[in-house]
Amino acid sequence: MATVLCVLFPDPASGYPPEYARNDMPVITGYPNGQTLPSPRGPLGFRPGDLVGSVSGELGLRPYLEANGHKLIVVSDKDGDSSEFERRLPEADVVISQPFWPAYLTAERIAKAPNLKLALTAGIGSDHVDLSAAAHRGVTVAEVTFSNCISVAEHVVMTVLSLVRNYLPAHEIADSGGWNIADCVSRSYDLEGMHFGIIGAGRIGLAVLRRLKPFDVHLHYHQRHRLPTDVETELNLTFHPTPQSLVQVCDVVSVQTPLYASTENMFDDRMFSLMKRGAYLINTARGKLCDRDAVLRAIQSGKLAGYGGDVWFPQPAPADHPWRSMPHQGMTPHISGASLSGQARYAAGTLEILQDFFEGKPIRPEYLIVDGGNLAGVGAASYRLT
Ligand code: NDP
Repeated sequence: MATVLCVLFPDPASGYPPEYARNDMPVITGYPNGQTLPSPRGPLGFRPGDLVGSVSGELGLRPYLEANGHKLIVVSDKDGDSSEFERRLPEADVVISQPFWPAYLTAERIAKAPNLKLALTAGIGSDHVDLSAAAHRGVTVAEVTFSNCISVAEHVVMTVLSLVRNYLPAHEIADSGGWNIADCVSRSYDLEGMHFGIIGAGRIGLAVLRRLKPFDVHLHYHQRHRLPTDVETELNLTFHPTPQSLVQVCDVVSVQTPLYASTENMFDDRMFSLMKRGAYLINTARGKLCDRDAVLRAIQSGKLAGYGGDVWFPQPAPADHPWRSMPHQGMTPHISGASLSGQARYAAGTLEILQDFFEGKPIRPEYLIVDGGNLAGVGAASYRLT
């Protein structure tokens, strides 16, 4: 029998289950790169469209785990030495958390979990786990690759349009009974004709580029390996050998790389100094890719016309985090990958990974980040051990 410690975000303030807005979900048959959807064996412990990421949703894991004699502990209190998560950690064989409400698995915490064998990210991005410490201890780290990439790409497109068109302030004016057109439009532009650049044209970045193509923008990208020529041709992409080269010519920039030591603070004062005055920056990858106070300075100086996204550090962000209250921002809590559509896929993928793990079957390489004491599978391409 194994103990699975699952750290989930709190239920809705109005109670669980919420009143759902729709009766069904669109059916998708695969991912754009040909990767197959999560394929757990047997029934799902939830109905696709259910809120499974919060405490009462339990990622739908309880039926499977209890039928197989395992113990499921679900907690939400996750930060600090006296948190419920820390108290239950010593008994955990498996820890599951979502990047939206990350259970930070530091080296100290891994040392407090002698039974830990699997750290599973229900979603994408395992930077909340100290990957070197996990590798050193022989802990496997896995995540549900591709599960919510399109969810994030849609959020990026929404944020690009919201910032460039000045949608959020205009909505607030309508909401509060106002009608001052000049106040609504004095920071509003068309996206058409602008130069849009992605740093990290991977699963999410490429999906954003494809979605923005019909807006008649000039598309740019930077990453370490060039995309295939047919993709560059199809999207009429301009490749930049450095991020600095890209930011100098783009009106809107979005960063979509994983977070590891050498990508941390990629956007600092120096990078902002290279950008066009009035550029927009959208970050849905990880908060620490951008220097918190440099973003604030760039907004205050007018270097950035807008900053948006959904990722912060730490999470949840403190109430006085400057990105909450700075002007011209389109920030949300970390939600872009947590749509009910995304949740259905990453919960199914979590079940698939658990089934393989408990049945001694290999976990799909596209889900593996660390295994056998080193980076493995997709993790070997995405991360660096420090
Ligand atoms: P991918 O691995 O598919 O894409 C990442 C891209 O970044 C790759 O194409 C890679 O290309 C590039 N890259 C990596 N390191 C660098 C570097 N140092 N400089 C420039 N480019 C780099 O990942 P995904 O698109 O699936 O996800 C990206 C990130 O988005 C995740 O790591 C996660 O942190 C975040 N995410 C956020 C979510 C949310 O809800 N907000 C949900 C899902 C993911 P190359 O190797 O050629 O450089």
